[in-house]
Amino acid sequence: MRPLQTAHGPWRDRQGLIVQLQTSAVDDDQARAYGEIAPIPWFGTETLEEAIAFLTQLQSEPAILTLADLSAIVEAAPSHYSATRFGLGMAISQLQGNFPPETTEPAPQQICALLPAGSAALEAWPKLWDQGHRTFKWKIAMADLAQEFSELEALRRSLPPQAQLRLDANGGLSIEAVKQCLRRCDALASQGLPIEFLEQPLPPAQFDDLLKLSQTYRTPLALDESVTGLAQLVDCHRRGWRGIFVVKGAIAGNPLAVLDFCQRHRLDVVFSSVFETAVGRWGVMAMAAALADSGQSGLDQSGLDQSRLGQSRLDRAGPGSRALGFGVQHWLRPDGLDSHPNHQAHDQAHDQANNPTSNSHPQQAEEALWQQLWNG
Ligand code: MG
Repeated sequence: MRPLQTAHGPWRDRQGLIVQLQTSAVDDDQARAYGEIAPIPWFGTETLEEAIAFLTQLQSEPAILTLADLSAIVEAAPSHYSATRFGLGMAISQLQGNFPPETTEPAPQQICALLPAGSAALEAWPKLWDQGHRTFKWKIAMADLAQEFSELEALRRSLPPQAQLRLDANGGLSIEAVKQCLRRCDALASQGLPIEFLEQPLPPAQFDDLLKLSQTYRTPLALDESVTGLAQLVDCHRRGWRGIFVVKGAIAGNPLAVLDFCQRHRLDVVFSSVFETAVGRWGVMAMAAALADSGQSGLDQSGLDQSRLGQSRLDRAGPGSRALGFGVQHWLRPDGLDSHPNHQAHDQAHDQANNPTSNSHPQQAEEALWQQLWNG
């Protein structure tokens, strides 16, 4: 399988941990919940070794911890332990009965499909369109700029007007190039062919420039590399960012805290994959569904309303909600963790016309998965 090329070199293996939390037996009533801890240190999280050391330390704590004790210990971890916070936070809140349930796999129109770079995108999109995708991502800052701009115009003109096209520069443009790009995008928008947004055109260090650009042009900007997790989300919002945030849910921190912040400040969020397994994916999909649902039902500032979250469904998301950045399954070798009944892989290349399936609680499937892992 081809390794994913990143700015940090080829990425061959995705490593992480599946954690199981188990309550002690009370009247034979034992509950288990699962979470995923899959750090990406070059994105600003803890390392896998740090996460393992943290869990090892936890196991040396008194034999029985209450969920409140455990929450407090996780909360006291260093701020960059955002993958650990996600995994344990997800499991703790499931046991507390307040993790948002997610019962349907999103349909292709709710998932952004990544197009190949360059002019190959022109041949690639019709098949993805036929599969149901309506939002596409195209990487820029990969080749000669003038050539990319003309390819971009050709691509946008070839797509149906109702298609959404988002661009991702991965921080690779100069400020002059961003301005040129945004002028082109704005011109397309004035012809009824808007670009959904331009993602991270400048590196995170140029936040002030990004902020100014976001206030100058019609085409929206999104922050991705600038926001690893909740701490950066809070910081960028405090510094005035009112554009889009790409939230990598599985490394963003405690899921309920992330959701609470997004809801209270009505952030414009795109949830995105960081190559998690079905366990983490389920958690992030549940967060996305809860946020989409709260946008529609207009949650007030009292935070999460569990009775409404119980009805969360991505397919009820309002027209303003954004497609998920989860079209990455084709990068992953099947690892047995994709067999989750709620999580059939959304391989862009092989995706069938989707019909949302399965409403069973994921608990049994994760139980089976755990046994499978435990038995090697
Ligand atoms: Mg990006």
